[in-house]
Amino acid sequence: MRLAVVARCAACVAIATVGSATAEDTDNSQPSCIASTLPAAQAQVRLIPAEIKGAPLAQVRGVVVRALTWKRGETIKVCFHGGTRKAQERVARIASEWMQYANVLFDFEEGGAPRLCQSGGGSDIKVAFEDNKGWWSVPGTSSRTQDPSMNLQFYGVDAPMLANGQPAPEAPMRATILHEFGHALGLLHEHQSPNANCDVEIDWDAAYKIGAGIGWDKVQVDRNFRQLTMNVSLNATKVDRKSIMHYSLPPSLFKRGKQSPCFVTENLELSEQDRTFIASIYPKAEAPIVVSSAPPTAVTRSAVKRAAPNDDRKALVERYAELLKLSGIEADKTSNLVAEFRKAALGQ
Ligand SMILES: [Zn+2]
Repeated sequence: MRLAVVARCAACVAIATVGSATAEDTDNSQPSCIASTLPAAQAQVRLIPAEIKGAPLAQVRGVVVRALTWKRGETIKVCFHGGTRKAQERVARIASEWMQYANVLFDFEEGGAPRLCQSGGGSDIKVAFEDNKGWWSVPGTSSRTQDPSMNLQFYGVDAPMLANGQPAPEAPMRATILHEFGHALGLLHEHQSPNANCDVEIDWDAAYKIGAGIGWDKVQVDRNFRQLTMNVSLNATKVDRKSIMHYSLPPSLFKRGKQSPCFVTENLELSEQDRTFIASIYPKAEAPIVVSSAPPTAVTRSAVKRAAPNDDRKALVERYAELLKLSGIEADKTSNLVAEFRKAALGQ
């Protein structure tokens, strides 16, 4: 969204108008991010049951977030549920921009054409174009556990139109696709960075009102706007207001309106920090790996730490199962959650 952990904010609230919501201060000329955050949040919420509280909550969250990153150099198979060939090729072309910086391979092709999703087809990212379902993506390897794992509402035609009947401008459409694939690479929303300090800037009554308009209760609003708590699993840089993962929210959402540092105009391109950060998460083979005993100077940016080797992932699955058991989650539920977690972390 404009949500990666989610994205371009101005766009986000506007998106709500495309669906059933009637958020204030929107112009429906942009896609919206808010809608995109919801399924991603649901995926994480399932893996982090509400019954877990206190210190174990931070531990479970840490394990979950670490397992959501792809392996360095991994080939990520992408398929499409429908859409015209031109639309599929547009998505592939734009999303591939990430590969200039991240050492992963988005593989969109099968037999010389964009790959179509088939049941049991083994694709990692499954892209749908369902109308009125918003723009969203499941974060990182969780994409394997959901089908579709990403939705790009009304982008599945040769010439996408906005809800107001106007042709969708190329730049915001491109930015939304980059944003959603940023989520698919494991990036979180920059405005929720532990370093963003937006909690004190937001007018929460206004936020809950907008949330109610798109069917969100307070818990859901908090989950998508509240600052993430700093913990060992997060790899956050100095906050980047230019990030493609930063929401562009309407000024009415902030106590200080446009004077708030959390108010940003729409970011349409990958920022310099987006590029260097994703390159640090998925470093190229030729890049030297610097090992230092010094504490990191940059604190966090809302994204997961570098992918762990597969063996470490097995340890994460074991740790996850152990934490759920210690938290008193019932056996059947634990077993289902561990299976989902294993699929996301190990692809099996
Ligand atoms: Zn987003």
